[in-house]
Amino acid sequence: MTDFNYALWDEEDQYSERSFVYSLTLAGRGTPQQEALLGYFHRLALAHQVPARTFFREVVLPASAIQAGKHLTSFYSKYSKTCNGYGKYASTLSSTLMTLTRATGLEDGTLLAWAPLLSPPSGAAKSSPEWCPSCLHHSLETGGPIIWQLAWAIVGATDCSVHLTRLKDSCIRCGLKQRFVSDAIALGRCVHCSAFLGFREGLLDDEKSGARDIFATRSINEMVMLGADASTYAAPEILGYRLGQVASIVSDGTLPGLATAVAFDKGIVSRWARGEAKPGLNYLLEFCFRIHITPVKLLKGEFPAVVKTPRQYKRPMRRPKVAITYPFATQLVREVDRMVRDDQTFVTAKALAAKYGITIGYFKYWLPDQYQRLTEHRRLVQMRLTRTKAIQEASLAREIVRQLAETSHHLPQRKIDAALCLHKLSILDRNVREAALNERDRIRAEWAAEAIGGMAHETKKDRSG
Ligand SMILES: [Zn+2]
Ligand SMILES: [Zn+2]
Repeated sequence: MTDFNYALWDEEDQYSERSFVYSLTLAGRGTPQQEALLGYFHRLALAHQVPARTFFREVVLPASAIQAGKHLTSFYSKYSKTCNGYGKYASTLSSTLMTLTRATGLEDGTLLAWAPLLSPPSGAAKSSPEWCPSCLHHSLETGGPIIWQLAWAIVGATDCSVHLTRLKDSCIRCGLKQRFVSDAIALGRCVHCSAFLGFREGLLDDEKSGARDIFATRSINEMVMLGADASTYAAPEILGYRLGQVASIVSDGTLPGLATAVAFDKGIVSRWARGEAKPGLNYLLEFCFRIHITPVKLLKGEFPAVVKTPRQYKRPMRRPKVAITYPFATQLVREVDRMVRDDQTFVTAKALAAKYGITIGYFKYWLPDQYQRLTEHRRLVQMRLTRTKAIQEASLAREIVRQLAETSHHLPQRKIDAALCLHKLSILDRNVREAALNERDRIRAEWAAEAIGGMAHETKKDRSG
C-alpha cells in the first residue's frame, strides 16, 4: 500500500482565483489624481489591444446586469457618463470590472460612497469628458500610462489640481468634444481626428478661474481624495446635524435663518436637514461656497473659528412681479413734476425709488423719462447750489480781508489765511483765494491812490504856503 497523502490535492485551493482579464490596479488612490472608473476601463481595453466599445460589448456587457440590448448607442451617449458618478451604472460597472479583473476597490474610481447623500443619480456627471492637457502631456513625457482622472469628470471641477489651469473639453485640432466610451484603442487621443489631447497651446491665455470655480475644484478634489471613507460622512443625518451647527454660527441658530443668510430657499435647506430631500452636487457646492466651507469639511465638522457671514449674498430686494400699474405710474410722475419745480432742493432717483419700494433699475426701466428728468434736475440744482455757495464764499472772503485791512496795513497771505480759517474758509480753495487776494490788491491800490492823493494835497499846501 502506498503512503499517499490525498490532502495534498487541497493545496490547489491556495492559488488565488484566476482573473478573466488583466488585473490592473486603479491608479492614484487617496490622491486628488484618483483615476476614474471609465479611465480604468479604457486602460483595460488598451491592455488587451481591443477598441473600448468592442471590449465593452463583448466582455463587460455579457458579465454585467446592464440591459442595454439593442440600445447600446444610447447607453454610450446618455448613460455612460454616469459610470464615474454615484448612480446604478457606476455600481454595476465597478462590480462587473472587479469580477472580471479580481482587482479590489474599483468603487474608488466613482463617487458611489456619496450616493446616500446626493441626488439625482446623474447629478455629478459632466455632459462630455474634460481633461488637463498638461497631465496628459506629462504622462507621455514620462512614459507613464495615460490616467483619466475622476475629478475631471465631476460637475463643478473646472481646473486641474496639479497644474491649476482650466480643463479642456474639445480637441485642439478639430474642435470636437470627446466621448465617454471611445471607439479608439489609443488613450489620450481625439476620437475624431486622432490628435493628441495633451497639446498645451493657449492654456495660459485662458481666462483665470473665479473664486467659485476655485472653490468647487478644491471641494471636488477633497471629495475624490476621501475615496471609500466618504461613506462615513456622506449621510443625510450627518448633513442635517452639521447644518444645525452651521446655523448657530452663521445665523440665529435656526435653519430658516441659515437659509436667509445664504439666500437659499428656506424649505430646501430644512428638507435637506430632515433628510426629506437630497441635494444635487452642484446645489450643495453652491451652498457650501456661500458659507465658505467645503462639503468634506462641512460633513466632518471642521469649521473655521469664524464663519464669514456671506454678506454678498444678502437676499435681494423682492421686485414687483407685474409691470408697473397706471395709478402707480401717475402718482410717481406727479411726484416727479412737483420735485422738478423746486429749484433749491433735489431728490435723488435712488431715494425716490426707495420711497416707492422699487429698485433703481426698476425705476429706470419702467419710467425712463421720469428717471431722466429727475437726474437732470438733480444735476441742475446741484450746479446752482455749488455756484451760489461759491459766490457766498467769495463775498465772505472779501469781507474778511476788508475787516483785516481796517486793523493793520500789513496783509501777508499767512495772516489772511488765518482769518479765513476762523470762518471755515481756506486759502487753498481757488475761488476763495482769488477773491481774497484780489480784494487785497484792490485795497492796496486804494491805499496807494490815497497816499498819492495825500501827497498831492501836501505839495499843493506847500506851494500855497
Ligand atoms: Zn494637470
Ligand atoms: Zn480632434
